Amino acid sequence: MMDEAAWQPLRQELARWTKANRIARFWLRDDDAVAPTAALERLLMLREAYQVPLTLAVVPAYVKEQLARRLAHEVGVNVAVHGWSHENHASANEKKQELGPHRALNVMSAELGEGYRLLEKLFPDRFVPVLVPPWNRIDPLLLNELPNLDFKALSVFGPPNEKFTGVLPVINAHVDLMDWHGTRGCRDHGQLVEAIVKELQLRFISSDEPVGILTHHLVHDDSAWDFLRRLFAVAAATPAGRWVSLRDLL
Ligand SMILES: [Zn+2]
Repeated sequence: MMDEAAWQPLRQELARWTKANRIARFWLRDDDAVAPTAALERLLMLREAYQVPLTLAVVPAYVKEQLARRLAHEVGVNVAVHGWSHENHASANEKKQELGPHRALNVMSAELGEGYRLLEKLFPDRFVPVLVPPWNRIDPLLLNELPNLDFKALSVFGPPNEKFTGVLPVINAHVDLMDWHGTRGCRDHGQLVEAIVKELQLRFISSDEPVGILTHHLVHDDSAWDFLRRLFAVAAATPAGRWVSLRDLL
């Protein structure tokens, strides 16, 4: 089957890790939750089936109490702070940003402080003091404020950025399932596998930074759900694949 062939490079890479007695670590970040939905149930069921720890980046301004009730007993789930209201303050010709250089630092840090306190209160057992800036972008000047707000880590997208290191730990996502600028559905499975293998190859020779997988359950098509399920299954089939929780990474 063609799709099976698409997964072969990942199986081979993980076999190489197994042979070398190495553990490839992954972590799962899912953005934009505010309430329980059918899509969230699907994500929770899937992660439960494979015992994959999950971090939900929740938008504080719109979070519903029902979400807190729904997650109260989900021990494998963490909740991080996804900005304040996920509002874009950049102009039309710029990349979208809520926490960019468009507003006063004290206004943004007041919002982030409010978001932190709100989620900590709503999710006392799930909360992790990690900021996930909407659209994975943040004004470097605002970064300096984060330790004062009690944030312990930042999570954006891609390889470590020198702008961000030094202030607080950065625990990034590296592979995004969705094709935002094209089909707006799941990216081609073969390309996604290739991207994950590339991240693993980099780590095999240098670092043990976990590979962050980024999902957005609210917009998943069948292909995205299928990819996630297969990724969980392929990782579970080898001793070299391990999912870690954001709480343990802090
Ligand atoms: Zn988002």
